Amino acid sequence: MEQVALFVTSDAFDPFAFDKVIIGFSGGKDSVACVLHCLKLGIPKDRIELWHHEIDDGDTGQLKMVWPCTHGYVKAFANALGLPLYFSWREGGFARELLRENALTAPTLFETPNGLMKAGGIRGTPSTRRKFPQQSANLSTRCCSSSLKIDICSIAISNQARFNGKRTLLVTGERAEESSARAKYQVAEPHKTCNGKRMVWQWRPVHQWSEKEVWAILERHRIRAHPAYFLGWSRCSCMTCIFGSPSQWASVAQIVPRKVIQIRQHEQDFGVTLRRDGDIDKAIARGTPYAMDQEHVRVAMAEDYDLPIFMENWVLPSGAYGEAAGPT
Ligand code: SF4
Repeated sequence: MEQVALFVTSDAFDPFAFDKVIIGFSGGKDSVACVLHCLKLGIPKDRIELWHHEIDDGDTGQLKMVWPCTHGYVKAFANALGLPLYFSWREGGFARELLRENALTAPTLFETPNGLMKAGGIRGTPSTRRKFPQQSANLSTRCCSSSLKIDICSIAISNQARFNGKRTLLVTGERAEESSARAKYQVAEPHKTCNGKRMVWQWRPVHQWSEKEVWAILERHRIRAHPAYFLGWSRCSCMTCIFGSPSQWASVAQIVPRKVIQIRQHEQDFGVTLRRDGDIDKAIARGTPYAMDQEHVRVAMAEDYDLPIFMENWVLPSGAYGEAAGPT
């Protein structure tokens, strides 16, 4: 371990110096670019695994944030590229955290090569959320990113003995171009789960890439992008991301009005709006729905993703180079 610690520094970073390469795979274009880039560099497939952090959990009738097709799309992608895929999530997902009242943060569930594991959710001080995550780069107030993705990943690493005594690389797809906060991220740095027991580094291989370079690698490999891009979204995150633009909210209102009803009800119950500049109806009124093809709506709204990942005649989706609304 010590020898490797000397070899891997942020100045002379070597992605081949790791036993295992975990790629945080949201299904968005930047995470696809990370996978393709790692494969192109020649990182052996048997070292790579894709991790997808689910934002929603269960079918409770509560608000669901994510595109219905995302689970199926990431599975189809992993199958098409012959890579293992593990899902992880917080019990009850976004909705349980949103409605949490005088309760502990829910446990984390994560798939592993040896089956499903569970950790956390038993210590701490009960507290209340009952408001939407704030539109902020600060992850302590924008709790969805930390509670439902970043912390889930750390818990899944630190609770698997298979990473102890090993060198693990966590690859994520943040790009400097996306926001001034992301521009400040290091390209490579020790991950917070790195300790005396295990070496874990985080690497952002596409940090300096332009959007054009990202689409170019998808085109070279003929990868069909996530359906959200074909509806007009330029970033693929939650369908009802708190950073959504007025036109995205107007588009959501057109294809799934039930979500708007749920959000409006929560705003009234909490006495706090989702956006800082007014309630959800105000945002919708300011936007213009994207010109959405009905077949693309069908694919995005279906839980069974049924299109091939490799496109014979590759097409740039209509959302490419569009509004840069999304997590900062
Ligand atoms: S995509 Fe938006 S709403 Fe979803 S977890 Fe990230 S910041 Fe929160």
